Amino acid sequence: MIPVSAPLLNGREMDYVREAVESGWISSEGRFIAAFEQRWAEYCGVPHGIAVSNGTVALQLALRALDLPAGSEVILPSCTIISCVLAVLEADCVPVLVDSDPQTWCMNADQVAAKITPRTRVLMPVHLLGHPCDMAPLRELADRHGLLIVEDAAEAHGAEYNGRRCGSLGTLACFSFYANKIITTGEGGMVTTADPVLAERLRAMRNLCFRRDRRFLHTELGFNYRLTNMQAAVGLAQVERIGEHIAIKRRIAARYLEGLHGLPLTLPVERPWARNVYWMFGLVLDDGVPFDADELAIRMRKEGVDSRPFFLGMHEQPILKARGLFEGEQYPVAERLARRGVYLPSGLGLGPAQQETVIDVMRQVLA
Ligand SMILES: *Cc1c(COP(=O)(O)O)cnc(C)c1O
Repeated sequence: MIPVSAPLLNGREMDYVREAVESGWISSEGRFIAAFEQRWAEYCGVPHGIAVSNGTVALQLALRALDLPAGSEVILPSCTIISCVLAVLEADCVPVLVDSDPQTWCMNADQVAAKITPRTRVLMPVHLLGHPCDMAPLRELADRHGLLIVEDAAEAHGAEYNGRRCGSLGTLACFSFYANKIITTGEGGMVTTADPVLAERLRAMRNLCFRRDRRFLHTELGFNYRLTNMQAAVGLAQVERIGEHIAIKRRIAARYLEGLHGLPLTLPVERPWARNVYWMFGLVLDDGVPFDADELAIRMRKEGVDSRPFFLGMHEQPILKARGLFEGEQYPVAERLARRGVYLPSGLGLGPAQQETVIDVMRQVLA
């Protein structure tokens, strides 16, 4: 079976992990934590990076750090991972949804204005599958209404908006370094920011809010969301090669765009203001195709090719509806993406012959 993704590891990870283990610093202190944070923040173009255990808690910590009044509203796309909504709920805030752009599949910026109320505090763009959201209209609304922007950049390491990297486009940005992301630490995440006060607060919150002046005196409630030095060792080796990883992703995308041309599909775009890192190569079946994404996945699997469906929108989640959220709301683009969108094998280890097989199978299944 040709897998959807696989991490690309090399000897450097092992060298650094060995150094971390031999140093005895195997928990969350040691040289690799600071080195990884610094290197990643610098890559994103901001001064501060706060490493955490995974991308989900990065989002949670980010919203908590903003200290929003209970009941504050956060506007985000329906088509995203549940981590985003979990973070909003955990901060005692209210998730407010918008639909997706049919081409970039990111949050539709044109729908945001209509959802702003006096309680709105945060916009949460999610840069989906490696393509950045259209940030200018969001920035304009944020400035006009005094809102903060928290990016979910977990799928967009190195992606650019008008020459600026994702991770530097809001007040805070959240990354995941899960094994299928563009760079990985196994499990891991980071919050990036240009704000030194928030950075300090995030550092305290990830480490139980121990105080610098008196360790076991607490004036705030925190979490243990620390990353280990061993994971950061893997992360540092990965950041050092991110340029190569992105080049591979872009090469894979270029070949798919060529090989799948002419099939009844909507393929990924790269807007003039964007640099798409094509984390995963997504596609959406045209209406004329007489089956949906689930059926496509079954037919492909029979031929030895794995795939994944797009997210099921937050407004269609039974557990969220059971809590009275998003009642009667409809987001036709997100609904269509969930039913007709899949992503193809896009792993960093995908060989040219494997990719030709995927293209042949797609052509055969859609013939
Ligand atoms: C992967 C991902 C996350 C969550 O990251 P974890 O490290 O798996 O918790 C959050 N948001 C998006 C858009 C993701 O793709």
